[in-house]
Amino acid sequence: MPATIDLRSDTVTRPTVAMREAMAAAEVGDDVFGDDPTVQRLEELAAGMLGKEAGAFVTSGTQSNLCALLVHCARGDEYLVGQEAHCYLFEGGGGATLASVQPQTVRQRADGTLDLAELAALVKPDDFHYARTRLLCLENTTWGKVLPVSYLAGARGFADRHGLAMHLDGARIFNAAAAGGTAAAEIAAPFDSVSVCLSKGLGAPVGSVLLGRRDFIREAKRWRKMLGGGLRQSGLLAAAGIHALEHHVGRLAEDHANAKRLARGLADLGVDCDPVQTNMVFAHLDAPQIAGFVEHARARGVLVAGYAGDPVRMVTHLDVDAGGVDRALGVFATFLGA
Ligand SMILES: *Cc1c(COP(=O)(O)O)cnc(C)c1O
Repeated sequence: MPATIDLRSDTVTRPTVAMREAMAAAEVGDDVFGDDPTVQRLEELAAGMLGKEAGAFVTSGTQSNLCALLVHCARGDEYLVGQEAHCYLFEGGGGATLASVQPQTVRQRADGTLDLAELAALVKPDDFHYARTRLLCLENTTWGKVLPVSYLAGARGFADRHGLAMHLDGARIFNAAAAGGTAAAEIAAPFDSVSVCLSKGLGAPVGSVLLGRRDFIREAKRWRKMLGGGLRQSGLLAAAGIHALEHHVGRLAEDHANAKRLARGLADLGVDCDPVQTNMVFAHLDAPQIAGFVEHARARGVLVAGYAGDPVRMVTHLDVDAGGVDRALGVFATFLGA
């Protein structure tokens, strides 16, 4: 039986041989004492790539976004956020529970942007009946879509008019950069803080980096400690992150090409897919078909993420090449009767 083709997410990637070698060779220290040289090198490398002053290596994207909320907002403040954004919807309600920060959600438009006029109407007046609106959180890419750079500049203007900070959940910012032909630092520029995942399409086993001004990162590291994220010889993990940033950013375009190939193949099989911008394919099967489709594929070594009512999600990454995409399409064809 050939290897499984796992399209459920780009988090499923396994460290490559070269990445494991980099981990094994990493020079380490105790990062809680601030003397792990490999962690420092990762934080500086990521900060440089994103055009920010400093970085904090954190255990996950969830911890990164939560640290950012905790620094930008005090207890009883609120943040503006898309209602399908990861840092509102998929982080267990941590912003409300652990940061005591209230989310003010807003509908996301088809292109992933939030309407600035709608947001303006949601900023609370200075009156103790209301929470204090402090922060705008955006996500890029969001559900595989790239936010237009011109939109980001407009959002910065909006935030400045209302005295808000801006945080970017840039879990896949390098996918946005590759797809839009824009430098990641340019995408990050309007934001006060940016969170980047190393463990998605970049292929590291663990970790995210939170970036911002030096004083912001100093505060973020206090919260990281309180959240249980102070790690010791974490240079072993940071080495994987450095390897990912040095060797796996340039190849993201391959994932995007493979996602387009997958969507084209599905279209040939009569399945309607959302337009593909990055590494995510959303395939619209009929609701009663979905469970059978997922199971048919699983039994033949192809894993996809499907829940009744939602489009089936397939994500390309460095462990799936064009041949793997074609093999997956062959499996889908036997279900779809083509
Ligand atoms: C995966 C993801 C996160 C969180 O990352 P974890 O490391 O899984 O906690 C945050 N935001 C977005 C958009 C993500 O895709």
